[in-house]
Amino acid sequence: MTTKNRVILTGLCLLPSGWIFSSCVTEPSALTGENRSYGYTWQQELELGRKSDRELIQEMGLYPDDDLSAYVTGIGERVLAQSDLRRASTPEIYRNLQFQFRVMDSSVVNAFASPGGYVYVTRGLLAHLNNEAQLAFVLGHEITHVAARHASQQALKQHWGQIGLVTGAVIGTGITGNENFTDQFLGLGSSVFQMLTLKYGRDAERESDFYGVEYSAKAGYAVEESAGFFDTLGRISSKSGTRLPSWQSSHPDPGERELRIMELAMQMRARYGDLKIRESDYLRRIDGLVLGENPRQGVALRGKFYHPDMNFQFDVPQGWFVKNEASRVVLADVQGQGIVIFGIGQGSTPEEAARSFVDGFGLQPVRAGSLKVGSQSGYSVEGQIKTSSGTMVVENVFFAYDGNIFSFLSYTMLLDRHAYRPAFDGIAESFKPIQDSAIRGLQPARLKIQAADGEMTFQKYLTGEEAHGLDDNDLAIMNQVDLRQRIPKGRLLKLVAK
Ligand SMILES: [Zn+2]
Repeated sequence: MTTKNRVILTGLCLLPSGWIFSSCVTEPSALTGENRSYGYTWQQELELGRKSDRELIQEMGLYPDDDLSAYVTGIGERVLAQSDLRRASTPEIYRNLQFQFRVMDSSVVNAFASPGGYVYVTRGLLAHLNNEAQLAFVLGHEITHVAARHASQQALKQHWGQIGLVTGAVIGTGITGNENFTDQFLGLGSSVFQMLTLKYGRDAERESDFYGVEYSAKAGYAVEESAGFFDTLGRISSKSGTRLPSWQSSHPDPGERELRIMELAMQMRARYGDLKIRESDYLRRIDGLVLGENPRQGVALRGKFYHPDMNFQFDVPQGWFVKNEASRVVLADVQGQGIVIFGIGQGSTPEEAARSFVDGFGLQPVRAGSLKVGSQSGYSVEGQIKTSSGTMVVENVFFAYDGNIFSFLSYTMLLDRHAYRPAFDGIAESFKPIQDSAIRGLQPARLKIQAADGEMTFQKYLTGEEAHGLDDNDLAIMNQVDLRQRIPKGRLLKLVAK
């Protein structure tokens, strides 16, 4: 959880209201001017983009660095200005579209776009890029997904609009004993999931690569530089399947892309002449960037969940999964039959928050009343919800702590309630301020840009004690070098600050 995202709901409401069903519309393409078929009208896309944007921010959080965000926006705008969206002959509905370029507080290496002008890069991606030219290409690629309305075209093929409804059914289907439930539940928090896993298809990706090269070259960048980044994507995916972002999985083979992009880049160089890489400028901007998970925003360690920034901890039952999102923490047992969601309540007292929860979900309480949560006073409501697979018991315990109202929402099927009750109660009762001062003082790893001071292998620059789950290979990948590669004196390296 991030301290900044305190306003967000706690509860079952994972579905953005009013997802619209797609139907077929024909409108002119911003890229070619010719008519193309889409699943949504342009107006609907703008609305979808706004909703997804809110959810993405809620789920991932924005990286709190205004200077970095302004820098990324500046490059995005420079590339956008060269795009077909900004041509004088482009239909006015597209020409006036404002873009939002956002840096997300996630260590996953990813870039993605939402319809209607939203482009996102993660801090994990920024750490893995080596220069402005690479960033410009990535932004150009994502701008093209928006301009070409690839999501809307895909919606037409996949009846994408209906996927929005799946999230509402998650709780019901999960508890039926579907073995994929835990995965589904943990991943399928909201429509954000759709945005991140949406596959545009190879033709769309090729189109985005093509225009991404053109736009970033026109904006003055040496696109052949992005080759190094494709190599990085390939290395990340072969090192760890779990960190694999959609940017990689939904795209054509990185090797093949790299070749095609090099070819296009050479044509661009012939046409636009000397193009910029801007390495030191870029690296100076990302100096100090948080690397890997940020433990201050919550970390699961040895059977407990700790949140140093908000100074609390609670127990995690043995064998349960923990998923820490920007606005909530989800705990689920292995079978996915018992779920606890820790989050923020709406209201100034526990009782008020409980009432707003009951009203918000139309819950019929079977029980309500005051209780203790650890040493804090709280208020609990319990109700039952009929689902297609049986009756589900929902309990939400609200309590005040350090100026906020927090809550533990737990749910399971009525038949299983006695089996899960001890675990549910144990989690809530263990809530307290962090006892261990070392954990209270945990800090994230940060990037330090440093010039190579002699000609030696990359490995020699590593101390071997890179913390927070980063090993030597991760750093080599991040620097787009091999461990045994000799680094020329003066080259700027991305190392971990001591
Ligand atoms: Zn793409």
